[in-house]
Amino acid sequence: MHGRILIVDAAATNRVIHKVKLAKAFYEPILAADGASCLDLARSEQPDLILLDLALADLSGTDLLALLRGDPLTRAIPVIAFAPPGDPAARLGALRHGADAVMSKPIAEAVLLARIRNLMRGRTDARRVSEMWGESASGILGLAEPASGFDTIGSIGLIAARPETANSWRLALQRRMRDRLSVLTREQAMALQPGADEAIPEVFVIECDLDGAGLGLRLMSALKTHAGTRQSAFCMMAEREDGSAAEMAYDLGADDVVSTAAPEGELELRLRTLLRRKRQTDRTRATLEDGLRLAMIDPLTSTYNRRYAMPRLAGIAAQAESENLPFAVMIVDLDRFKGVNDRYGHAAGDAVLVEVARRLAENLRISDLLARIGGEEFLVVLPQTGLCDAERVAERLRQIVGEQPIRLPAGENIIVTVSIGVAVGRLGQTGDGDPATVVDRADRALLLSKSGGRNLVTFSQSAA
Ligand code: GH3
Ligand code: MG
Ligand code: MG
Repeated sequence: MHGRILIVDAAATNRVIHKVKLAKAFYEPILAADGASCLDLARSEQPDLILLDLALADLSGTDLLALLRGDPLTRAIPVIAFAPPGDPAARLGALRHGADAVMSKPIAEAVLLARIRNLMRGRTDARRVSEMWGESASGILGLAEPASGFDTIGSIGLIAARPETANSWRLALQRRMRDRLSVLTREQAMALQPGADEAIPEVFVIECDLDGAGLGLRLMSALKTHAGTRQSAFCMMAEREDGSAAEMAYDLGADDVVSTAAPEGELELRLRTLLRRKRQTDRTRATLEDGLRLAMIDPLTSTYNRRYAMPRLAGIAAQAESENLPFAVMIVDLDRFKGVNDRYGHAAGDAVLVEVARRLAENLRISDLLARIGGEEFLVVLPQTGLCDAERVAERLRQIVGEQPIRLPAGENIIVTVSIGVAVGRLGQTGDGDPATVVDRADRALLLSKSGGRNLVTFSQSAA
């Protein structure tokens, strides 16, 4: 199923028409005949999108929008509002009260579907966040907070075929907006580099048929693939917002298409909406990135975790095989660590783990892999490393941990040592390049370091 869409329309025939069309496009329609049931269903069913005819019997469309936007449970659900024909005030009212898009009736079906696909794309990330963090996540993570779009200064870049056009947009907008408005050429926009945050517009306004032949759409597509500008939102200016150019623009990823004949003030409101949505999307993306990071990083020591390390090790082993080079694996285990916890407490033990991880990381190459694979056990993988180098590195790591005392949070200095088992994976010997076998050999070598008195490095027999 592509997504669930709540259809809110007072007229039964309209509900049925939308229902049939959406079902044909593989969406799951949910129907509401008035504002009260819209609110109930939006809360209980959590649809991915709401299609709202503004003319309802029990509530005004703008009141309903305000209620949807005021409720944390429904705040982030995108709304496309349908305004009566030739009623600019209704359009502006809907935008002002938080509609993500507004279309005047009669509705151009192809453009509506393109618009729905477009808004649904943004919902996929939101859904991934709730899958990753659990259903109530958006509340806990603050994602359901209203994203500010109306009080923070935004930055908007204006691009038209002729600079006079972009300048006239700027003059009209700057009477109403405090945001940074800059007129750019195509070349200037294409040259924006990531990191130049100040200069990168949050929203681009681009003339759809820049110089004719769909050049505006091509420029948007190009900017959407550039590292510097790919997170920006794109508002295309077209002659008509219900024509085939608009449909194509939405399918190419435009966030909004505004008619050059839009009523006074509408462009400003739509840019505000885009700014608000972009900030919401940025927060969702940051949350997803946090989730991905947590999935592979050990929160205590900031080294990789076992889940990340094992497939990485397999990758290093495969690479070694293809390059016909050896790789080394070490298991590093803290000596009598239980005693540290027993004597100084668990928090002191944690501080020791953090410091040991820091020392190990500082003494490895950027291409080496360091992971915490057990409570007080680390895995180190050295790509392109044979026996001699592995010996040198292991001995250095052992010394770097054991020779300098570690300062505990309470102020004591203690000496902590590690035992290390090393194995080298190489080709030409049966099973010797297989990552699981190499780890196993390193593990057995570690046991010998322990039984040999600890604070020792031991090499796996078959690698020596
Ligand atoms: P050995 O020299 O034989 O390795 O002795 P050991 O005490 O280090 O080994 P053992 O496996 O008996 O105990 C490991 C201890 O590590 C037990 C556990 O309390 C401690 N530990 C594991 N994870 C953590 C952690 O995240 N924080 C702290 N503070 N201690 C941990
Ligand atoms: Mg130990
Ligand atoms: Mg251990």
